[in-house]
Amino acid sequence: MGVRLIIMGPPGVGKGTQGELLAERFGIPRLSTGDMIRAALKAGTRLGDRVRVYYEAGDLVPDEVVLGLISEAFDGPEAACGFLLDGFPRTVAQADGLAELLTARGIGLDAVLSLEAPEQELVERISGRRVCEACGLVTHVRLVGDASPCPACGASLIQRSDDRAETVRNRLSVYREQTEPLLAYYASSETGLTAVDGLGSPEAVRDRLLETLRCAEAVG
Ligand code: ADP
Repeated sequence: MGVRLIIMGPPGVGKGTQGELLAERFGIPRLSTGDMIRAALKAGTRLGDRVRVYYEAGDLVPDEVVLGLISEAFDGPEAACGFLLDGFPRTVAQADGLAELLTARGIGLDAVLSLEAPEQELVERISGRRVCEACGLVTHVRLVGDASPCPACGASLIQRSDDRAETVRNRLSVYREQTEPLLAYYASSETGLTAVDGLGSPEAVRDRLLETLRCAEAVG
């Protein structure tokens, strides 16, 4: 049996990086609503056009849009034996919608992980984040320097359009106002909430997450 996990936390805390590592470790897909939205923006689909203004401003896209994306992903073959949700749910309405989707499928969550880091570190990480246009590598100017090519494939590294300083501030306040209440929501749920320190190297944080999951007996 696969595992069903949620990884939560503020923008820049490392959900994507850690989500990728955990998904690989458990052989489950990482379902990232942010990645799904960026794919729709890049492909210029109707959905992409509809959500562009929210995304570029660092605001949340409408709940029904992300619930539709997740519902579709749940019905695909990939997620049949488990999944890791990254960047979803982000509002209480999304969490309620998710609970309905899970109940309808007769499944539950094994763990809800909350990654934590101080705000100053988040801003530092986001403002220096660079992504490869071609292979999708996510890196940081601290590692590769400014204006260098992708160390994996040699294509250009760019800044995500919502990683600009003015948008980052809005994303952080949107997180505090709309997503942070979900920590209490899950803490008082049957699954509970597991908080993990997001500071340190990606490997150190991954080991911390794995250890926490083992201790919580969420995974075998
Ligand atoms: P981060 O967690 O670093 O902010 P994401 O890639 O998860 O990055 O999200 C980027 C943007 O995509 C958000 O600012 C928002 O506009 C949109 N988005 C992603 N997931 C959701 C969601 N569950 N609900 C609403 N909007 C979302």
